Amino acid sequence: MKKTIGFVLFLPILFVLALSIVIVAAVSGGDNITTELEDTGENLFSGEYRFNAINKEVERYRPYFERYAKENGIEDYVEILMGMTMQESGGRLADVMQSSESLGLPVNTLGPEASIKQGVKYFSQVLDAADGDVELALQAYNMGNGFIDYAKKHNNGKYSKELAQQFSTHMKNRLGWRVYGDPNYVDNVMRYLEPVGGTDFAGGSGKWALPLKNIRVTSGFGPRTHPITGQKGKFHGGLDFACTPADDILSVADGKVVEAIHSNVGYGNYVTVQHGSNEFSRYAHLSRIGVTKGDNVSQGDSLGKCGTTGSSTGNHLHLEHLTKLGQRHQDKIDPKKTLGL
Ligand SMILES: [Zn+2]
Repeated sequence: MKKTIGFVLFLPILFVLALSIVIVAAVSGGDNITTELEDTGENLFSGEYRFNAINKEVERYRPYFERYAKENGIEDYVEILMGMTMQESGGRLADVMQSSESLGLPVNTLGPEASIKQGVKYFSQVLDAADGDVELALQAYNMGNGFIDYAKKHNNGKYSKELAQQFSTHMKNRLGWRVYGDPNYVDNVMRYLEPVGGTDFAGGSGKWALPLKNIRVTSGFGPRTHPITGQKGKFHGGLDFACTPADDILSVADGKVVEAIHSNVGYGNYVTVQHGSNEFSRYAHLSRIGVTKGDNVSQGDSLGKCGTTGSSTGNHLHLEHLTKLGQRHQDKIDPKKTLGL
């Protein structure tokens, strides 16, 4: 298939580009993937990485993604297409989806709209060939349709990272290339996806006051599932809010600070305030703690600043409602209820 051959030819360029993006990300200390330790119940698909994930350069093309996704009958995949574009170019090249060669044209010869038009069409084709399996389709977008045939032959048509690695090695040996595609492409794109349940709230009506001036919930309380595969994750023992390091973290009610802990793992820097004999609020991943153990605080007092310390991949507040210290995540209370959101 001509399209596939053309696509295969520009894979080294794609790889170098992907690599350079990864290096830039690593140097800037940005998108480190969460490692789970004594943790908050966050995981890779928790949405912690979402805030600021789709940059302005890609966001400005949203109308094109919507238009061409609709044209190809894949309007539910706009976020995924934009995540792919973050991975392909970060919106910083004219050929934003790096799709010119899938049309048999030289590299980077398409402008943004034409690149998106072709990239979306090509993705809809691999999605079709992958029978709607998004992970398989994503990896095929990166490595060519041959990956789908390979998956059907060797893994019951299912994607796995190991399979992508095997296929990459297989193609490298066959073509005598040093690199073939990006076996981490699926994870790399998934980092940019909007979590399930990202919602804006004007204000709460519950017993607790809001812990931030501006509220945007990015991840809910409860068992987590992968937004696409439905794979079960860890139980998330709190509620996550988007915030920036300029934002004060506010005590949800009057009380006494019972924990003000500096840490690089798990919750990172966190504060726990006791409001009653069986009522505690906990605030995790702070950049700076502004109180000490034993302090009395009033509702709305600043406890510190928003941050991304500990097991976190982006600035956010992880808020918990505990009925006792040392409680298991599944026994905690959904802060949404206490906040009246
Ligand atoms: Zn959280």
